[in-house]
Parts: sequence; C-alpha cells; structure tokens
Amino acid sequence: AFDVLIVGGGPAGAAAAIYAARKGIRTGIVAERFGGQVMDTLAIENFISVKETEGPKLVMALEEHVKQYEVDIMNLQRAAKLVPGSADGATLAEVHLENGAALKARTVILATGARWREMNVPGEQAFRGKGVAYCPHCDGPLFKGKRVAVIGGGNSGVEAAIDLAGIVGHVTLLEFADELRADAVLQKKLHSLANVTVIKSAQTTEVTGTEKVNGLVYTDRRTGESQRIELEGVFVQIGLLPNTDFLKGAVELSRFGEIVVDPKCQTSVPGVFAAGDCTTVPYKQIVIAMGEGSKAALSAFDHLIRSSAP
Ligand code: FAD
Repeated sequence: AFDVLIVGGGPAGAAAAIYAARKGIRTGIVAERFGGQVMDTLAIENFISVKETEGPKLVMALEEHVKQYEVDIMNLQRAAKLVPGSADGATLAEVHLENGAALKARTVILATGARWREMNVPGEQAFRGKGVAYCPHCDGPLFKGKRVAVIGGGNSGVEAAIDLAGIVGHVTLLEFADELRADAVLQKKLHSLANVTVIKSAQTTEVTGTEKVNGLVYTDRRTGESQRIELEGVFVQIGLLPNTDFLKGAVELSRFGEIVVDPKCQTSVPGVFAAGDCTTVPYKQIVIAMGEGSKAALSAFDHLIRSSAP
C-alpha cells in the first residue's frame, strides 16, 4: 500500500508527489494524462522566476523533477471511485481505477483539476491559442491594445471584461440571456468603462479567422438575425468544471462541484486531502496549484505521523 496516493498529474499532483517523496514515504501518482491542463497551454508568462515558457516544456520539467524521486507514476490511468478508509486508519483508503484495479493507500491527495466549459461552436477548437482563450490572468496581456470579446455575463465573465478593459483596446461582452448574472457591484463597474460594449440576448455561433481569430458571429436572439464583430481575441467565460464527478458521495463538494478543503487542504474525510483547480481554493493558476499540492503533501505527512495504524 502507498503512504500517499495522489490522483492527478498536473502541477498540483506533481508538487504533492515531490513533497511527499522527499519525506521518504511510499508515494504513488495516478494520472489520466500527466501534465494536465498545462499540456494544452502555449505561452506561460506568469510562472514566477521563469519569464516565458511553453506548456509541454514545463510538463517535461515537472516529470523530470518528479522522476528524481522514488515515485510510482501510473500514467494514462483514470480513477473511477474513491472508497475512504476508516477514521482510525485501521482500514486503508482505496482508489478504484477504470481498468478494474484498486490501489490501497493510507492517505490520498485528490488533484484532478478542472476544465473550461466550451461553447462548442465552429472555430473554437481550431483557433484555441490563436485568439481563443479561457484565462484572462494568463492571456490578457497578449491582446494589449487589441479588440476582444468576452463570452458570458456571470461573475467570471464580467470580472474578465473589467480586467481586460484595462489592457486591451476594446471589449465586447456577449451574454446569452436577457440580463447579466454578475453581482450588481461588478455590473456597475463594467458599465462605467468607456471601452466596453455589452450585448445581451446574444448566442455566439462561430469564431472566424484565417491564421488567427479575426471575428465572431452571433445570433441576436430577439430578432433572429446573424451579426458579425471584427476582433482579435475571444475569452470564453462560461464556467470551469472541476473533474470531481467520480467523487460524488465520497467527499464533500461545493455547489460548483469543487472539493471543499480547509486551509491545510483537508477534505471532509480524514486522511483524504485535495489541491489545485479541483478544490474550493480561489484563482485557478499553476503557481497556486503547486503551492496547494505541496501543502496537501505536508498535511498528509502530518496525518501519517499522528496515526498509529501501520
Ligand atoms: P490540472 O492541470 O487540470 O491537472 C489535473 C490532473 O488530473 C491531470 O493529470 C488529469 O489527467 C488528472 N485527472 C483528472 N481526472 C482524473 C481521474 N478521474 N483519474 C486520474 N487522473 C485524473 N495557469 C497559469 O498559471 N498560467 C497560464 O499561463 C495558464 N494558461 C492556461 C491556458 C489554458 C489553455 C488552460 C486550460 C489553463 C491555463 N492555466 C494557466 C491554468 C492552469 O493550467 C491550471 O490552473 C493548473 O494546471 C491546475 O493544476 P491542477 O494540477 O490543479 O490541475
């Protein structure tokens, strides 16, 4: 059995593995795809101390670092179920894999990340990283002085529009419904900005471009007419979905499906910790996920030295 079994091989899982293995305890990491969201990222300019890098390059460095230690890496394996151990530690936790195997562990760290909800319209995939973006903190500065759209008028969409308005030339915010759903204070701020246009009842139907994005097409839901906007960037802000479906009933989840954790990354189940984008910790970023992963491993170690079970 593992002392620490980590589910997820993104920045949070990798950091947890290194911190756990450095304590000299039996550490395993099971990941559907090592690297996680970072594999899908082109330019990274906010990974502190590294001015600029690319996702796959950072993933390679992560993997090399993890492999410096005795970590059992089980890549391309998907966890399907978590069966927590007993509170006294007498029965071990079990992580059941989709291939039928079950892994036993004294502590578990859940680091399964999240994925951005997509619009599923033509052009979205083709221009991903070529004008279609999901993270204003990450990619906002790439659109300095340019025209962008933000899709989604909830809190994250309106926050993104306010944030981007300070960097880019012009922001058009498109909301599907007749009203924005963001908090009133955010809407007030949004409407005070000179370089923001808000279009409601707008259903985005296509992202257009040649090499890069050059516009988007939407249907005005009130008239049924199709409209086109010329722009260089599209930020999709219609939700972040945590990869936690398989944990329903096993650990407490928030109404957004995020694993509820305390400041020490402890979940509702003793011996089960969680870190990164799959948790209630705000601001989904690489450095934050790494910090949380490290913290979760230290908490798991702390739990192990306090429990008497073998
Ligand atoms: P993830 O990276 O999502 O990793 C989750 C891991 O869990 C993966 O290995 C996955 O395969 C695995 N997994 C999921 N479900 C299961 C399961 N059931 N069983 C086994 N394994 C499972 N952040 C920045 O700081 N700077 C940027 O420039 C930046 N740009 C981004 C660009 C894009 C396009 C995207 C999508 C995100 C970007 N982010 C950026 C956000 C950043 O990638 C995430 O915050 C970070 O990767 C979160 O790390 P994580 O380890 O929590 O989760």
